[in-house]
Amino acid sequence: MTRRFPAMLIRETEGGPRAGLTELSLADLPDHEVLVEISHSSLNYKDGLAITGKARIARRLPMVAGIDLAGVVVSSRAPQWQPGDQVIVNGWGLSETEWGAYSRFQRLKPEFLTRLPAGFSAAEAMAIGTAGYTAALCVLALEDHGTLAGPGPFLVTGAAGGVGTIAIALLAARGLEVTASTGRVSEEGFLRGLGATAVTDRASLAAPGKPLQAELWAGGIDAVGSHTLANALAQTRYGGAIAACGLAGGADLPGTVMPHILRSVALLGVDSVMCPQARRARAWALLERDLDRAKLAGLTHRAKLADLPQLAEQIVAGQIRGRTVIEIG
Ligand code: NDP
Repeated sequence: MTRRFPAMLIRETEGGPRAGLTELSLADLPDHEVLVEISHSSLNYKDGLAITGKARIARRLPMVAGIDLAGVVVSSRAPQWQPGDQVIVNGWGLSETEWGAYSRFQRLKPEFLTRLPAGFSAAEAMAIGTAGYTAALCVLALEDHGTLAGPGPFLVTGAAGGVGTIAIALLAARGLEVTASTGRVSEEGFLRGLGATAVTDRASLAAPGKPLQAELWAGGIDAVGSHTLANALAQTRYGGAIAACGLAGGADLPGTVMPHILRSVALLGVDSVMCPQARRARAWALLERDLDRAKLAGLTHRAKLADLPQLAEQIVAGQIRGRTVIEIG
């Protein structure tokens, strides 16, 4: 009998691409070298866009959604992976060009796999997921630029979301001052609990601002884009830097060159999807060293595959706090 298992599949329909729970068998999966049994995945903003169809993330259909997975190798034609190896995958085009994580089993290219970091369980690695590992990449970008040498303050935008919450925890772990910019000021207690030393309403950054403003920040991590990023750059001190990874508020960048050419402010772009393995290893080592496990547990919710359609609507509406682990199977 052919074993069937649940998966979240995006299909072409008469009304356009639609995501829904279905059942697959191993014969349906792509013919890549490594078969992984997936125990946990997670919910990211991009997963929300893919499932709701609010942006065309899947570039071929049908497509199994889900950009993050943790699981165990079942079989492998690649010498570097053996049955029983515990692995994670973040990005690499999953849910875009490669079948992704919201499935009990998946076949993957061997170069996509990373060994599960020894300091984390599969569930913890997915509580971190792409959002948390991207927060770590942003911290690394600031560190490599020399921006973390002083006490701050550092601005974190989209503070109550996935990238934002873990960015706050990582910066606070270094004893740095962190200002959390959020649309949910009711979450002030939660954000201070993660280590934010101040909380501001995101409305102050969302409107068009002057090209150069009072120098407030040594640096920052931006998950929002648009006017928020332009204002963050205009408020950064001489020689500082903003690591930009997101577009939750818009993909435009309505600013000027003035902060860059008059204050030597740097805009550090951060991509997680095609990030080389060596840099991923640095990001996960930073997370293993600096991320407080109790804070991680406090910002994480757990859900099931069947919850994804509703969760996807909520994350694109900016209503998900912290991170969501998806328990598969
Ligand atoms: P979340 O939805 O968890 O967090 C985004 C946060 O941004 C929200 O919680 C909210 O925070 C804020 N926000 C939402 N909508 C708006 C808006 N219209 N205007 C201003 N702020 C808004 O998403 P993730 O943490 O998973 O991802 C954050 C961003 O980073 C996304 O754009 C995502 O695509 C991007 N990203 C990029 C990666 C890369 O490789 N470059 C990797 C991972 C994520 P609050 O309520 O506190 O205001």
